[in-house]
Amino acid sequence: MKKIILFITPFLLLTACGKKVEETKEELKVKTEDLTVKLNEEVLNTKGITELENGTIVTEEQNIDTSKLGEQTITITIKDNEDNEKEYTFKVTVIDDEAPVITYKKELSTTAGTKINLLKNVSAKDNSGEKIEVTIKGSYDFNKEGTYKLEYIAKDSSGNEASEAFTLTVKKAPTPTETTTFRTSGTDSSLNGTKTSKGYTITVKNGVTYIDGYLIANKTYSLPSTYSPGLNSDVKSKADAMFADAKKDGYNLYIASGFRSYDTQKKLYTNYVKRDGKKAADTYSARPGASEHQSGLAFDVCDRNVSACINSNFDSTAQAKWLSENAYKYGFILRYPKGKTDKTGYKYESWHFRYVGVDLATKLYNGGNWITLEEYFGITSEYDY
Ligand SMILES: [Zn+2]
Repeated sequence: MKKIILFITPFLLLTACGKKVEETKEELKVKTEDLTVKLNEEVLNTKGITELENGTIVTEEQNIDTSKLGEQTITITIKDNEDNEKEYTFKVTVIDDEAPVITYKKELSTTAGTKINLLKNVSAKDNSGEKIEVTIKGSYDFNKEGTYKLEYIAKDSSGNEASEAFTLTVKKAPTPTETTTFRTSGTDSSLNGTKTSKGYTITVKNGVTYIDGYLIANKTYSLPSTYSPGLNSDVKSKADAMFADAKKDGYNLYIASGFRSYDTQKKLYTNYVKRDGKKAADTYSARPGASEHQSGLAFDVCDRNVSACINSNFDSTAQAKWLSENAYKYGFILRYPKGKTDKTGYKYESWHFRYVGVDLATKLYNGGNWITLEEYFGITSEYDY
């Protein structure tokens, strides 16, 4: 009881003196607290003062700089009711708890054997402004066809991680761009003087092959790139004579394609390879040097009344039938007859004729059952390159 009395006594005394209660010196009470804030978060510098009694904040109120990660100390000046200033400090730790954002392509593809940079079109941004490195999770093989499920992983310096799934498709590699080194020197001179399987003598002169005096240009025996005689004038006049007779039967034949140079054939063949691939192109187009058109002794026929001649549409025309039955009389042979692909190396060409002279043409006509030059001489027509 004694204690209570002692406490009350001064109060009574002061009141008696006429002084106001507010003027009574009251203890300044301040509590601070350390803060953890997010990067770029708006935080007032007074936020760390969690309790304040009997005092006023002197320090100007403003936002704390939270643009950098890490710890900083904030000092706040506070005055008590008697204007005594005192400094209080608290710690502010700026942290980054946001995962980086990955910008990427969901589907990537390449062909087997062709490496691509999987990180080329990927970027990761983070609120910390740092450069974030992206890595790839998962395994893949650029040499093996398939679809690989992979992930991009981005990690910032605070350990925040982001991942995005993507696929890498390794497609079958296309048939490699077919770059054949074409023969330019014609037939190998070492064949000069050798015999064919039917006993005919092969003569090679400046790369040009003759068998029994007949020029041969096929897949086995090629012409040198420099061989460029133009359409043989005898061949031209024999063809004109044939066409004149055909006209009497009502046909309007003409040479649609005669002499073709090595370079022209090279362009033609190369384009066909681009379009259909080498394997297919080799069945209907000669590689440069292997075309009979380069010999100046062969041509493709067309008729003015037939819209498309140099294709299989010509096979069933009356003109094709007339040519097949009459060409030999003028010294021409149907060079690539039906069903002789394994001999000539080419599919049936009802429009392609070759001059060999009436004697040999008559033998090869064989009463309408055409024999090929390859069969007759006992030679092949196959590329060995
Ligand atoms: Zn032709």
